[in-house]
Amino acid sequence: MWYILASHFSVSGSPPMSTLKYLRAYSEQTQQQVAQLIAQNKLGEVLLKRYARPHDIRTDKALYSYVQDLKTEFLRNAEPINKVEYDSKIHVINHALGLHTAISRVQGGKLKAKHEIRVATMFKEVPLEFLRMIAVHEIAHVKEKQHDKAFYKLCTYMEPNYHQYEFDLRLYLTQLDTEGQKLWV
Ligand SMILES: [Zn+2]
Repeated sequence: MWYILASHFSVSGSPPMSTLKYLRAYSEQTQQQVAQLIAQNKLGEVLLKRYARPHDIRTDKALYSYVQDLKTEFLRNAEPINKVEYDSKIHVINHALGLHTAISRVQGGKLKAKHEIRVATMFKEVPLEFLRMIAVHEIAHVKEKQHDKAFYKLCTYMEPNYHQYEFDLRLYLTQLDTEGQKLWV
């Protein structure tokens, strides 16, 4: 018997009412500071100062190697990841940035899983830090299904700046929403 367990990195559960929809989980104070940067037209500048260049992991093959290397470094003994690719449909359909799919089946009384990772195409043209964050997030799902304390502990073990990169990625999504123009190409 096969069953599919998918978890995603959710960024937007409700309709896009506010331009700060990606920052709802953060404090009112933080949201006000970001709103001010947007009003002053400075959000893009702030991001470019922090992250100068995009990465060059542009193909599925390069992404596969990148994710496998990370997994080997931090979670060598976890179940293998069978497939890694960029997916242009992810953002639209799932309101997600990355997708981890575990297809499991019981074989000889043991549970065997096939793990597949899909990363939204928008991650082709971002700084390496953002790609690393989503890769770490999806790799962590190989061991931890839920977004709980153990999960985030694993994420910050693989990347100590995980939360900072997630916040900055959300700033960039906000920037894309308000300005519509890519900062890194
Ligand atoms: Zn997730």
